[in-house]
Amino acid sequence: MKRLTPEDAALLAKAERGERLDHSEITALYSLPLPDVAAVAHSLRLQRTDADTVTFLIDRNINYTNICNVGCNFCAFYRTKRQKDSYTLDFQQISDKIVELEAVGGSRILMQGGVNPELPLEYYTDLLRHIKKHHPSIRIEAFSPEEVLFMEKTFGLDLDTLLDTLIEAGLDGLPGAGGEILEDDIRAKAAPARIRSNDWFRILDAAQRKGLYTISTMVIGFGESYAQRANHLLKIRDQQDKALHDYGIGFAGFAMWSLQTEHTRLHGKAPGASAHEYLQQLAIARIALDNQPNIQASWPAQGFKVAQAALYYGASDLGSTMLEENVVSAAGGHGRHKATVRELVRIAHDAGFKPAIRNSYFQILRYPDVQAALDINQGAEAEEERAVGAGA
Ligand code: SF4
Repeated sequence: MKRLTPEDAALLAKAERGERLDHSEITALYSLPLPDVAAVAHSLRLQRTDADTVTFLIDRNINYTNICNVGCNFCAFYRTKRQKDSYTLDFQQISDKIVELEAVGGSRILMQGGVNPELPLEYYTDLLRHIKKHHPSIRIEAFSPEEVLFMEKTFGLDLDTLLDTLIEAGLDGLPGAGGEILEDDIRAKAAPARIRSNDWFRILDAAQRKGLYTISTMVIGFGESYAQRANHLLKIRDQQDKALHDYGIGFAGFAMWSLQTEHTRLHGKAPGASAHEYLQQLAIARIALDNQPNIQASWPAQGFKVAQAALYYGASDLGSTMLEENVVSAAGGHGRHKATVRELVRIAHDAGFKPAIRNSYFQILRYPDVQAALDINQGAEAEEERAVGAGA
């Protein structure tokens, strides 16, 4: 393993003081021993967030359709309309899923789909109104920039008008899905028809200007270089600076995971990322993103054990319970579609932190009763979630 030179130690000391690193300095971090980089990342995590607490959200993913005409090479989720297992959910099916979320004390849905060319604007607006009418306590964070771009082109609305229309119907936030690596040569190879980086930032900037919740994302393992990963982080940091300065609201958090390629056209072609590489990238993101305190560990792609380790590599949050995850798991992941409150409580508690249930903006809603959560046997998870989620 490489030993630290005086220059390396000076770079890490600069990072630990919280001073901003430039592109060459961020790129240099990739060649340093991971334990040293991780120690700085964890120190910054303790400085920038509540040092004792690890947060997570009780929510549900809903994928309203799997029909998609973008056809990303890394996607095992999408179907064409003619495939037998293609679907588009009706409003009652979506309501039924939200009722299950309400039963476990959840507070938001993350609703995204494929880009389904058959759906009219009214499907989206009527769906948002239906959810707000029947589930008024649930926040709706929905539609990736890819879906918004499709709506913009298809319905002939400029972006401002489109977002105003969706907000008026009930939209609370726009997930930053589809960030992957925001370098267009990587994007063009992985998914020729995929939204390009300029449009991704244009749509999220407009959402932030309108006060919508957004998060930033990153996926590694396409074969991108370290310099390209550093570029990705700097583009996100620049947007965060701009949004916080101009609108007073930016990305609420940052989520990163490694590419999953099972059942996709990239299987055997893209390198993916090992646990070491994931943890290294997470630590470097914590160091580089000095304006984003809330950094998530990803259990759907990395598994519970690596996600728990990530709490010492810069992550301060375990994401959310999801209840249903269809996109990452379709391409491999760890075969997990959901996490229970008990599982996330245990991960945080066993790692030495106080678990806390948060809202979308990473504000703590309540602290679960850890002992009650851990005492309950696995077979009674539904009951346990109800008790833990609603009670403490
Ligand atoms: S990643 Fe999204 S846009 Fe790409 S094919 Fe899958 S569902 Fe469609």
